[in-house]
Amino acid sequence: MIFGAANLFSGPAGSAALRGWRAAVGVAVAVTVGCSGDEVGPTERLPAVATTTIVADLVREIGGPDVSVVSLMGPGIDPHLFKPSEGDIARMSRAAIVFYSGLHLEGKMTEVFERMRQLGRPTVPLAECVPVDKRLTAAGFSGVYDPHVWFDVGLWKHAASCVSEALSEHDPRHADAYRERGRRYLERLDALEAAVRRRIEQVPAQRRVLVTAHDAFAYFGRAYGIEVRGLLGVSTAAEAGAADVQELADFITERRIPAMFVESSVPERYVQALREAVESRGWQVSIGGTLFSDALGDPQTPAGSYIGTVRHNVETIVAALSEPSGAGHER
Ligand SMILES: [Zn+2]
Repeated sequence: MIFGAANLFSGPAGSAALRGWRAAVGVAVAVTVGCSGDEVGPTERLPAVATTTIVADLVREIGGPDVSVVSLMGPGIDPHLFKPSEGDIARMSRAAIVFYSGLHLEGKMTEVFERMRQLGRPTVPLAECVPVDKRLTAAGFSGVYDPHVWFDVGLWKHAASCVSEALSEHDPRHADAYRERGRRYLERLDALEAAVRRRIEQVPAQRRVLVTAHDAFAYFGRAYGIEVRGLLGVSTAAEAGAADVQELADFITERRIPAMFVESSVPERYVQALREAVESRGWQVSIGGTLFSDALGDPQTPAGSYIGTVRHNVETIVAALSEPSGAGHER
C-alpha cells in the first residue's frame, strides 16, 4: 500500500451514517432469511456520493457491484462554479461515504464538506491522496495547490489506491473485492500512461505547447513534457482580464502556435476572444478541438470514463499539434 488511508478521513470510522447503514444491512439479511425473499429491503450496496464525474467514475470502477454511486455533477458541469442544491446536501447526508476531488476544486462546497465532517460523515478528498511533494502550486497563489491532479495518470493512481482503502475500511465485507478491483485498475492506469507517453512523443518537441481556456493541464504538461498556457488560471471563477488575453495572444503569435483548445466545461467565448486577438496580430490559430478538463463526456460515449477521456484528449492534442505547418499561418 502506498499510504495509510486512516488519516485521510475526517469523520470517525464508526460514524452515525455508517452505523445506520450497517444496521440496515443487518436487518435486510435477517428479513431475507425469515421470509420468501421478495421483500424490497434496504440495499446491500454501500451508498456513496461523489461530487464530480471524474471522482464518480473512479469510485464505480473500484466499487463495482458492491457500491451504489450518486454523482452530484453531470457531464459538462464546471466544479469550480458548482453550488450544491438542498437535495444534493440531503444526498450527501444520507450517504455512508462521500468522495470529492478536493484541494478547493469544488470551490463553492467548502462549507458543505465542513458540515459533513461535523456530522461525522466519512469524507475522502481524492486529490489530497497525492503526496504533498508531488503537488504543483497554483500559478500566482503561493501555498495553494493546483487541484487538477487527475491529468497526470501516475498521480491519479494515488487516488485509486485511496478509494480501494477507504471502501475496504468502511465496508469490510467486500474488502477483498475492493482491493482486487483496485489492483486491476492500477494495471489499466499503467497501460494508459505508457500509451500517453508513446503518443505525445510523436509530436515534434518544438510543437508541444498546449493553450487552453483555463489552467487545468499543468500536471499533464509536467508529466508528459508539454508547455501549457491557460487563459483563466486554475479556477474558472475569475473572468479573464483584457491584459491576460493580450499577453496570451502575443505568446501564440510569437511562437506561431498552430492550434489551441476549448474545454467542455468552460464557455467557448473565452477562447474565441483570444482567437480574435491573435487574428488582429496577423496570425491565424485554429481551434484544435474540445478537451475534457474538469468533467467527463456523455456516459454513452468513449469519453464517459476517465480512461476514455484521457485517450480522447491525447488524440485530440496530438492530431492538432501534428498538423503540417499552415494549420496556423500568417494571413
Ligand atoms: Zn479546473
